Amino acid sequence: MIACPDCDYLHRLEELPAGAKALCVRCHAVLYRHIPHSLERATALYAAALMLFLLANAFPIIALEVGERVERIHLLSAAGAFFRHGMAELGVLVFITSILFPLVTLIGTLYVLVAVRAGWRAPWMEAAFRLARKVAPWSLVGVFMLGLLVAVVKLMDLATVLPGVSLYAYGGLLVVAAAANAHLDDGVVWPRHHHPPGPVPPPGSARQHGLMGCHVCALVSPAGETASCPRCDAPLTGRKHDAVVRTWALVVSAALLFIPANLYPVMTVTRFGRGEANTILSGVEELIANGMWPLALLVFFASIVVPVLKLGVLSFLLVSVQRASTWRPRDRTLLFRVTEVVGAWSMVDVFLVAILAALVRMDALALVVPGIGVTFFAGVVVLTMLAAHSFDPRLIWDHGEARS
Ligand SMILES: [Zn+2]
Ligand SMILES: [Zn+2]
Repeated sequence: MIACPDCDYLHRLEELPAGAKALCVRCHAVLYRHIPHSLERATALYAAALMLFLLANAFPIIALEVGERVERIHLLSAAGAFFRHGMAELGVLVFITSILFPLVTLIGTLYVLVAVRAGWRAPWMEAAFRLARKVAPWSLVGVFMLGLLVAVVKLMDLATVLPGVSLYAYGGLLVVAAAANAHLDDGVVWPRHHHPPGPVPPPGSARQHGLMGCHVCALVSPAGETASCPRCDAPLTGRKHDAVVRTWALVVSAALLFIPANLYPVMTVTRFGRGEANTILSGVEELIANGMWPLALLVFFASIVVPVLKLGVLSFLLVSVQRASTWRPRDRTLLFRVTEVVGAWSMVDVFLVAILAALVRMDALALVVPGIGVTFFAGVVVLTMLAAHSFDPRLIWDHGEARS
C-alpha cells in the first residue's frame, strides 16, 4: 500500500503495462511509472551524463577575444569570480548549484543503479538515493546554460565570443541528463511487491486511517510504530513539521529582500573607462534596446515575474490552509507543483553576473564587477525555493477530510 505524496490518499500498487503511469485518483499526481528496461537504460544514460559532466569541467567553456587579448573561462571560473570580488557566499552558492549538486545527483544515482544491477547490497544505498533525490532540485545545469546564453548575447557587440569544447559537452549533458531522469523508474530501486496483491485500501487518506506515508518512497506504515520508513529509511513525520509557520517566515523574508534586490545594481559594467551600474530591470531594458526581445522577455519573466508570482501563490496557499478552505483542492495542488518547478529559473540572473564577471576582466577596456544587488537577489531565490520545499501540499486536503 502507498500514500500519494501530494495529498496522502491511499492506493494499492497494481501491475502496470509497459510505458504506463499510475495517477492519484484524488489529486492526479503521478504515483509511479512502468518504464521498460529502466535499469539498463537509466544506468547507461547516467554513466554517459557523468562522463559529459567531467568533460564539461575539464576544458574552457567559453572564450572572449578583444583585439589581441583572449580570456578563457572554465565552468569553475563562474564561482571563482564571486570569490575574487569578496562575495564568498555567492561563490559557494554558484559552486554548489552548478557543480557540486549536479555531481552528487549523478554519482549518487549511478552508484545505486550499478549496485541494483549487480545484485549487490551496497552500503548506504538508501541514503545515497535519498541524497540524490534531495539535491536534484538544486542542481541547476539548465539554468546555468541559459545564463551562458544570455551572457554570450550581451557580449556580442563588445567582443568576439568563442565557444569552448566544454560548451558542447555541457549542452550534451543537458539532453542526456533529462533523458536519464525520464528513464529512471523508482520501482527499480524500491522493488514493488506485486505478489500476492495486498488488500484494497479503505477510501481516504493515510492519516484518516492512522497510517503514515513516506515522503520519499510513498510506502505506508502504521503511525507511531516506527520512526523511519522500513523500506528507504527516511524519517517518518506524517506532515512536515511546522510547515505553515516556516513557509510564512521564508515568504516574508524573501519579499523584504526583493526590494533592495531591485533597487541596488546587480553589476557595474565598464566599457572604455566609462562605468555604468546595472539593476535587474535596466539589464532587461538594455536587451530590449539591442533588439533582443525574446531574451529580454525570458530574463524579465525569470527574474521579476517568477519571484513575484511565487510569493503571491505561496501566500495564497498559506492563507487558504489557515482558513481551512475546501475550495478546489486539486487546482491548488497543481498551482503548488508549478511554483515548485519554475522557481529555480530565477537563478539565471545570478549565473549571468557570475559568468560576466569571470569573463570580462580587461581593466579599463572592459570590466564587469558584481554589485550588492545580486546578493539580495540570490537571497530572494534561495528563500523562495526553501519556502516551496517547506510547504506541505497535503495540508490543502486535510480540512476537506475533516468535514466530510
Ligand atoms: Zn494525490
Ligand atoms: Zn520510504
